[in-house]
Amino acid sequence: MKNSISKKIAGLNYAVHKSMTEDDNISIITAFTEESIRIFDADYGFVLGKFGVNDKYKLAYKSSKSPRTPSIPKNLKKNLIIPIKYFDHSYGSIILGYKNKPAFSKEHLALSETVGNAAAQAITVNWLVESERKAMALAEKQKETEVLLGQEKLKTEFISNITHELRTPLTIMRGNVYLARKNPKSSREALEVIDKEIVHLSEMLSDLVLVTSGSEITIHKDTLDLAEILSTVTNRLKSYAHEKNIHIKIKSKSKKIKFVGDSRHLERMFLNLVKNAITYGGTVVEVDISTNTKTATVKISDDGIGISKENLPRIFERFFRADKSRTRSDNRTGLGLSIVKKIAEMHGGRIEVKSTLGIGSVFTVTLPLRKA
Ligand code: ADP
Repeated sequence: MKNSISKKIAGLNYAVHKSMTEDDNISIITAFTEESIRIFDADYGFVLGKFGVNDKYKLAYKSSKSPRTPSIPKNLKKNLIIPIKYFDHSYGSIILGYKNKPAFSKEHLALSETVGNAAAQAITVNWLVESERKAMALAEKQKETEVLLGQEKLKTEFISNITHELRTPLTIMRGNVYLARKNPKSSREALEVIDKEIVHLSEMLSDLVLVTSGSEITIHKDTLDLAEILSTVTNRLKSYAHEKNIHIKIKSKSKKIKFVGDSRHLERMFLNLVKNAITYGGTVVEVDISTNTKTATVKISDDGIGISKENLPRIFERFFRADKSRTRSDNRTGLGLSIVKKIAEMHGGRIEVKSTLGIGSVFTVTLPLRKA
C-alpha cells in the first residue's frame, strides 16, 4: 500500500509540475483531473467550479467517459469528490466516477485532499501571476504613453522656441531696414545693428546644427593643451569680465594638460561656461583645472545669482532660460548649456552642476584622457 501511495505521489508531482508550465486555469484543471483519474484509478472525472475571476460556477472540464451532463452526485457510492480548496477559498471540485468504486484507505483520502489543495494553489498562483502581468502591462503602456507625450511636448516646445528665436533677429533687421529707408541719416547705425543680428543669426544656426545633430557630427582629434585652451578662453572674455567688474582666476597644478579632442568645440564649450559665470556671476570667477591618470576635470565656479532647485534640472535643455526677460539684451539664446553638454558627451565626458540660489554655481566638466 505504501508503495502504491508513493507512486501516486509521483503522479501528483507530475500534475503540479505540469500546472506550473500552464498559464490558464482550464489547462491546470485538465492536468489535475487527468492525473487524479490515474492516481485514484477512476473511470472518468469532471470538474465543476468557478475558476476565472469573472466566471460563473460551471462545468470546467470533463474527461472521456464522463456523463453527458455531469453534476454533483447525490450519493457517493460511485464517486470520489476532491474539493479544490485553498485555506478558506473553494474554487470547486474534481469529481471522479467509478463503475466499481474501490475502498479508499485513510492515506488515499488524505492524498485526495492534497491533490485538491495543490490544484487550488496552482490556480491561486496563476490568478496572482495573471493579475500581476496585467498590472505590469498596464504600467508599461502608461509609461510608454508618458514618454511619447513628453517627447511630443519637447518637440512642440522646441519648434515654437526656434521659430521665436529666429524671428526675433529678423524682426530687428526689418525694423532697421525700415528706419534706414525712412531716414538715410541713420542708415549707418541701422546697418551696424543689422550686421550684429546677422552674426547672431548665423551663430544661432550653427548652434542649432550642433544641438540637433546626432552622432553624424564629426569631431576632430587634435592633440592639444587644455590649460592653453582655457587661458585663450579667459583672455577672450577679459574685457567682458572687466565690464562686469569680475575678476577671473585660473588655477592649474600642471602648466600643460595634453588632451586629444576637437579644439574648436572644446573652446566653444569652455567659452560658454565662463561667459555664463560672468553673465550670472558676482565678483570672482574661478577656473580650476586638475587631472589624474584617467581624467581631466575643469571646475568653473562663480559667486553670482545661483540657480533655483526647480530650474537646476532644466538648465541643460535647449532654449531653457531661468529669467527670459533679462537675457535677450546679451544675445543669449538658451542654447549655451545644451551645447556644453553635447560637446562634453561628444568627447566621452560629462557635465555636472551644483548651485545655490543667491550664493553661486559650480559647473564641472570631466573629460576622459585618451592617448594621442
Ligand atoms: P543662456 O543663453 O540663456 O545663457 P544657457 O543654456 O547658457 O543659456 O543657460 C541656461 C540658463 O541657465 C540661463 O538662462 C541661466 O538662467 C542659467 N545659468 C547658466 N549658467 C549659470 C550660472 N553660472 N549662474 C546662474 N545661472 C546660470
